[in-house]
Amino acid sequence: MKASHYAPSGGFSIAALLTIPIIVLPTAALLAALYAYLSVYNPFIYVTALGTMAFGAGVGLSMNLAARWGKIRAPKLVGLALLLAGAASLYLTWVVWVHAFLGRGDLDVWIWGPAELWGVIQLVAQQGAWSLSSYTPTGIVLYIFWGAEALLLIGFIFIVGLNQVYAPFCERCAAWMTELDSQAWAGTSDEPALIARIKAGALEAVEDSDGEGAPLALTLHHCPRCQRVGTLSLKAVTVTVNDKGKEETSTRDLIEHLMLDEDGLRRARALRASEVE
Ligand SMILES: [Zn+2]
Repeated sequence: MKASHYAPSGGFSIAALLTIPIIVLPTAALLAALYAYLSVYNPFIYVTALGTMAFGAGVGLSMNLAARWGKIRAPKLVGLALLLAGAASLYLTWVVWVHAFLGRGDLDVWIWGPAELWGVIQLVAQQGAWSLSSYTPTGIVLYIFWGAEALLLIGFIFIVGLNQVYAPFCERCAAWMTELDSQAWAGTSDEPALIARIKAGALEAVEDSDGEGAPLALTLHHCPRCQRVGTLSLKAVTVTVNDKGKEETSTRDLIEHLMLDEDGLRRARALRASEVE
């Protein structure tokens, strides 16, 4: 029997309609305010860039929390919510940024209207907002920086925020699956053959590795309630030493959440007994 991969069902609980606005919006607003002040007051553009990524990751993490508590298995719903969260994050950032930027000149103003906000942004773009060494980007160059900043933010929101919705879920018990165990195995020179055999149900194929390729990490998830369904994921783990002599680990997904029934789970756990050290 050919096994199938786990795919989100598209379902979500009614609580999801509360968890998204209650968790994600305040997080986006708080991080937008912190980020706006960071970009006005810190002089280093790379610190701001790190801040952009942390801001996006923070909003993404809050969406994962909302998805987890709201039992959301609907990627389209989360995608739409992330888009709205991204737009709200950007807009609030600009509102607070303009307030903080003008505040340096002792002006205490809050500009909330889109047309007025855009007017101020255009004025700032003519003058420049910050300098890199002695260079002050203005006009089109500054707009390009701002555009890149917006893309970086939205990119991180999506990269991080789409995680939970794709996590395996037991529809019968309405419960997220949990990690059962993680096993290390020797690599193989023929990864495609190994993947094909495991997908065809021959889980034991992982024991036949010839040790030639990248070491393998096999992770099992199962439903903690019924313990009758689970998934198997397989990654190739590559450890390289960079030019500074530091070890760097990178992983490649070979199999992502292959569905296992009760028998498959039992056989996958039994593999552990003959695990390669
Ligand atoms: Zn279950």
